[in-house]
Amino acid sequence: MLSVVELSGPELEMLKLMADFFAEKPELGAKIESYTTAHYALIVTQSENFGTPEADAWKTFEELERKVNEAEYIHVEVPYPLKKSYAMSPEEINMLRVLVDYFSPNPKMTPTSGFVANRSESIIEAYKWFFGAPEGNGEFVRESFRNLMEKTQTALSIRLETLAPVITTPNPYKAVLELLQIAGEKLKLDQGIHEMLKRPMRTIIVNIPVAMDDGSIRIFTGYRVQYNDTLGPTKGGIRYHPELTLDEVIALSAWMTWKTAVVGLPLGGSKGGIRCNPKEMSPGELERLTRGYTRALARFIGPYSDVPAPDVYTDAQTMAWIMDEYSQIVGCNTFGVVTGKPVCIGGSLGRNEATSRGVMYTVIEAAKHLGIELKGATVVVQGFGNVGYHAARLLHELGCKIVAISDSKGGIYSSYGLDPTKVLEHKNERGSVIGYGNCKCLTNEELLELECDILVPAALENQITGANAGKIKSKIVAEGANGPTTPRADEILFRNGVFVIPDILANSGGVIVSYFEQVQNQMNYYWSEEEVRNKLQSTIVSAFKEVLAVAEEYKVNMRIAAYMKALKRVADAMLVRNQKPFVPITSLQGIGSK
Ligand code: NAD
Repeated sequence: MLSVVELSGPELEMLKLMADFFAEKPELGAKIESYTTAHYALIVTQSENFGTPEADAWKTFEELERKVNEAEYIHVEVPYPLKKSYAMSPEEINMLRVLVDYFSPNPKMTPTSGFVANRSESIIEAYKWFFGAPEGNGEFVRESFRNLMEKTQTALSIRLETLAPVITTPNPYKAVLELLQIAGEKLKLDQGIHEMLKRPMRTIIVNIPVAMDDGSIRIFTGYRVQYNDTLGPTKGGIRYHPELTLDEVIALSAWMTWKTAVVGLPLGGSKGGIRCNPKEMSPGELERLTRGYTRALARFIGPYSDVPAPDVYTDAQTMAWIMDEYSQIVGCNTFGVVTGKPVCIGGSLGRNEATSRGVMYTVIEAAKHLGIELKGATVVVQGFGNVGYHAARLLHELGCKIVAISDSKGGIYSSYGLDPTKVLEHKNERGSVIGYGNCKCLTNEELLELECDILVPAALENQITGANAGKIKSKIVAEGANGPTTPRADEILFRNGVFVIPDILANSGGVIVSYFEQVQNQMNYYWSEEEVRNKLQSTIVSAFKEVLAVAEEYKVNMRIAAYMKALKRVADAMLVRNQKPFVPITSLQGIGSK
């Protein structure tokens, strides 16, 4: 499948550095010439100019080289007033490959001896030698080279389209399969059911053309994965992210299946998303993208089949666009097609903070179980979006001390404690938590390893891995995000006595109140915020107690226990809905029988 991949910030910086070198910038040239190979010179210069360790610069080069070599098409966006996306010609793409090869540790196209001669001519010669000059004296090649340099030096972003598989490392779907295997074995799950639960029921891939503000057309790839609907209509968020992969969406849809099951909701699980960078898109572009995605999916979603909700970089406004577009398609107002809507068009009171309120209720239960006093307990929050902000605010209101907070740009730390509402005001003004008060700055890696009572990962997957799990010092990890801990890390945390409240339980408050929103939409009768909070609390607290009971009885960690409870509920329903002689699960009697 043709996927879009964007060069990361460091990759773009490195490419510009290469272009600067060929533009014969004197101070840079002198610096670079003092080294023996172009590759080493580039790594050292990148490292010095941007303050990154040399090992990271190495990795940046490797990634850049891989992406450029795998690209089928390349698009460059240049700044205002010319703000426009240019498609590179095949000659420019080849020229880019020659340029990158020049800086490779093992160049194949460019002889390193060209390093000291006229630099641009040496690249042009290498191109002619490797790809051949189409005609005459290669003036055409020289022209491609000049164009490439100009575009690269002014580029705001560079997007590549590639046929290579796009996967994240580690792949979260692998984590789903591993946990399914472990919990399935403990439950003695029927093999047929296990086979069915390894794969999503339905996967939809759509390509959405969007008219951009500069007049160009861009195609975005979107996904919707409906993992399992045995317990009811599927339910799951929509994520907009430049590095989204299909495997990530599959993993997220499986987690939604277990999540709705573990808390006893009459729903299945799904997830969706679009590979795009919403931070670089205007509201108009985002609206056109969202409406296009809705049209492409209209026949597959609906209040009784599959109900989307917000996730990373989507919000109530996104849901309002989906609801409106879908209603136009079916010809009547259909509020129940999505949840997480603005309250004025059928949203539920309390939905906005529901995930975080659920995190708070589970933290209260875990603290009771472990005998931790929450007043004055120290809290670290990674990610300061919807989940991270409200979790920090609610725990702060409980009397906890929020000592560190981070977002995608990095983290801040104060041993005196932070007021999340004031940090949010700063983030809204400056675009990041960085620079707030007189706080110490931290990287996201350092933040996770801080000494604290409660750590709330509320950003993305794969944050706590085999590499850093041994350094986690908190007593409780409450997973606001989906999949922040890898299975390997889980083992280490369990061994070290860290109490993990797994994502499918800790962050289920969002889907619980989303379910309440669906119910209210269907009744067309709306509840008070207090009623929503009370129902949320009783649902999540009883799920927590049931999972803890399984963990204690089977001497497994809370994640395996939650999976066991969820799988049993789904498997029991599959059993009664199917003719096949599946083998009933006799363990966990009484639990999950809701
Ligand atoms: P959001 O878009 O509102 O916020 C994401 C936050 O994470 C932003 O502050 C962003 O700057 C930060 N971030 C991104 N990359 C980061 C990194 N590498 N390190 C540190 N911070 C980083 O998203 P959200 O709705 O708060 O969702 C966060 C997580 O919670 C996701 O895993 C999502 O799937 C999960 N979740 C959300 C809900 C919900 O109701 N919103 C429900 C259940 C689970």
